[in-house]
Amino acid sequence: MERSIRLTDANWSEKSPLFITELDELYHYLNLPNKSGPVARLKSPDFPLLVPKSYLSRIPKGDPEHPLLLQVMPRPEEMECPPGFHTDPVGEDQLLQQGGTLRKYPGRLLIVASSICAVHCRFCFRRHLRDRLPPPDECQWTKNLAQIEADPSIHEVILSGGDPLMLADEKLAELLARLSRIRHVARLRIHTRVPVVLPQRITKALMEAMHPSDAAFDPLIVVIHVNHPAEIDETVAAALAKFRAAGIVLLSQSVLLRRVNDRVEVLAELFERLVNLGVIPYYLHQLDRVAGAAHFEVPEAEGVELIRQLRAILPGYAVPRYVRETVGETSKRLLA
Ligand SMILES: *Cc1c(COP(=O)(O)O)cnc(C)c1O
Ligand code: SF4
Repeated sequence: MERSIRLTDANWSEKSPLFITELDELYHYLNLPNKSGPVARLKSPDFPLLVPKSYLSRIPKGDPEHPLLLQVMPRPEEMECPPGFHTDPVGEDQLLQQGGTLRKYPGRLLIVASSICAVHCRFCFRRHLRDRLPPPDECQWTKNLAQIEADPSIHEVILSGGDPLMLADEKLAELLARLSRIRHVARLRIHTRVPVVLPQRITKALMEAMHPSDAAFDPLIVVIHVNHPAEIDETVAAALAKFRAAGIVLLSQSVLLRRVNDRVEVLAELFERLVNLGVIPYYLHQLDRVAGAAHFEVPEAEGVELIRQLRAILPGYAVPRYVRETVGETSKRLLA
């Protein structure tokens, strides 16, 4: 991981006091009832606990079943792996081995710009690929950029990860500047959970890095990953306002999660809050069947019904597309 850390500002690295990485510390911080039995023994060395304190500050003390906590706290259910759940549910491993980019859909190329996240979401479909993500470095980027340059059919570049906004400001600015010099790349899209879980990362310096004068992507699209209305407090709203002030187009994606957001009232509140903050709900993802996340799964039929109910109460633009990632298809499959 040495090389990827080099790309990350120490202020935002998981070693900083902004983050909690120990279960004991988490229990203490949130005043949770004493852990016992299987939870005490729970170790998840390949996908350790990682959560910013700013995210935990939105969780009331003493509630182990809170929908925000369920997303970040390792639980014994992760040991279960019913049939149909895999370490690489969407068939990315082999593609990523070829050099940190995914070329699945026409016209668009996804770059794994960082192997680091600001939070470890327990349901993450890349949770087992994390260690095998090529640690992005200058050399990797140079290869990725050469690949894009050589292929004029690529009109949109998507930065994903890990989380691209965990890169140090100068590194992000440099990547954007290099991409902007490729004439056929008209649009840049950044997929991130940082504005939601670590809103203090959205600094003036970061905004400058995202819009360096020589690299003005227009439009620059930021897709935020957000799953529950309680994730959006004033600090998140302020971070989103900075993006809007910079002329960045804001979209959201959410994952449908059992006991987190599988009720129509919760989703309606989430999408309404987003729209009120200038964010258009883009995708609601059916959970990718990744090993360790089976307890988060909501059956598709239930998801379809939730979307039907949302359509009855929200404006059309506030209801996202309910989609599933399917290996070998040229787009995400629309479920509702
Ligand atoms: C989801 C995804 C995209 C973007 O798809 P859109 O439908 O354009 O949002 C691109 N590449 C990969 C590998 C994806 O999984
Ligand atoms: S932020 Fe995204 S990539 Fe990182 S752990 Fe969460 S879902 Fe996975």
